[in-house]
Amino acid sequence: MTTLTSFNPATGEPVGEVPVTPAAEIPALVARAREAQRAWGALPAQARADIIRPAGQAILDRKDELAHLLTTEQGKPLADGLSEVTHCGEKLLTEVDEIAEAVAPRDLPGEGLVTTLRYDPLGVVAAITPWNFPMLMPQWMALPALVAGNAVVLKPSEQTPLIAQAWADILNELIPPGVLQTVHGADDQGKALVASEVNLIAFTGSKATGQKIMAAAAGGLKRLILELGSKDPLIVLEGADLDAAAEFAARNSFRNCGQVCVSTERIYVQDTIADAFTARLIEAAKAYPAGDPLAEGTVLGPMVMRAQKDHVARQVADAVARGAKLVHGGADMPGNFMPATVLTGVTQDMDIMRTETFGPVAAVTTIRNADEAVELANDSEYGLGAVVFAPEPLAREVASRIDAGMIGVNRGIHGAKGSPWAGSKHSGIGYHMGPDGHRQFCQVRTITRNA
Ligand code: NAD
Repeated sequence: MTTLTSFNPATGEPVGEVPVTPAAEIPALVARAREAQRAWGALPAQARADIIRPAGQAILDRKDELAHLLTTEQGKPLADGLSEVTHCGEKLLTEVDEIAEAVAPRDLPGEGLVTTLRYDPLGVVAAITPWNFPMLMPQWMALPALVAGNAVVLKPSEQTPLIAQAWADILNELIPPGVLQTVHGADDQGKALVASEVNLIAFTGSKATGQKIMAAAAGGLKRLILELGSKDPLIVLEGADLDAAAEFAARNSFRNCGQVCVSTERIYVQDTIADAFTARLIEAAKAYPAGDPLAEGTVLGPMVMRAQKDHVARQVADAVARGAKLVHGGADMPGNFMPATVLTGVTQDMDIMRTETFGPVAAVTTIRNADEAVELANDSEYGLGAVVFAPEPLAREVASRIDAGMIGVNRGIHGAKGSPWAGSKHSGIGYHMGPDGHRQFCQVRTITRNA
């Protein structure tokens, strides 16, 4: 049996291992899922929600142990690991009911007729997930699918198989065998899963992999939800609260070592306030020294793997070689560690302003006015999140002109309960969360009868 070893990115030590699923066995696994889905899908959604709900408390009861595993495997500071695990547990407790309500059938009265609008299960869902939120991403892609009555075959990232398996094991204490299965491995297992007889592929990951999945899914016209990468802009205009803007810029550039799909990746600051903003940003960056992610008080752990660090270091070196100024951080560190880094004088043509960085870098450039900021912010193939710090009503007016799925005005992008998680342009196809997002895991059907 081949195994996949998971390594601690802070130390290089092995954390544990899982058996690799032979790619040739994946069709049989999907067939088992289809068999199990029949009875699962026949239950009312609320019954499925009731079965799964105790998993929320089970996650919370084991939150310290799970957070330790998450941090050891992925590298984010323990406090952040704990907050991810706690969020998963707390969210699951209520989200199962929100999903059940969203997919409940409803009657639409007409003239002499009644139409029942149904949100039925699709069948078997492949959930393929990345490593940056290694427990939350499996929950994001699998939970709505399960409550909606599908069986799920989950393929977590090969960087973080253990915490994903721990999450699946907790749910599998409650749900019937075969309804939630896990596939471990890398590209080959992902490809085999996409090629198998699944009805929907719910994918979160890079644009490059999303494109491959879309191409591979075309033959079978398989349904897709693709949550992809981004290059999120932050616009800071004259009159903004500069302390708040700089604090946000630092937090949203360095959180999880910048390995967040809605990280701030490009900063456009008006020339009249650029010096004042940058001085504050450098001060704020000093609060992010890299260190042992398990040590109390650490806010910046290692990057998940060497290849990720090398990519970021290459982008920084390229920007500096082409005229950008390194004003904080930048020095090499041992292993997978990388310091919080601030660059100024970057230009739109540099790779660091075009290709997703996914690292702890705040890249600042100046703009003359709001129009130029909007033009440059929109000059990207991506459009997941964007944030504007400016006085009102200008801030909202600028926000309305940005082509992104989720926009924050004088705050981050996270919306009120019920908000979907959506990207525009190459940041995604389809979306999830919120009632409409939950319904994307369903087959919509209408049945019309005489009144
Ligand atoms: P990745 O695309 O390299 O891998 C994601 C998953 O796809 C892994 O499980 C991997 O094994 C699998 N995979 C690889 N090749 C495959 C193939 N040919 N067919 C099927 N599956 C395959 O992404 P990553 O490096 O793990 O994650 C980082 C990326 O995820 C970043 O681009 C980030 O922006 C994105 N992300 C997006 C969101 C969002 O909500 N939009 C959220 C988190 C992360």
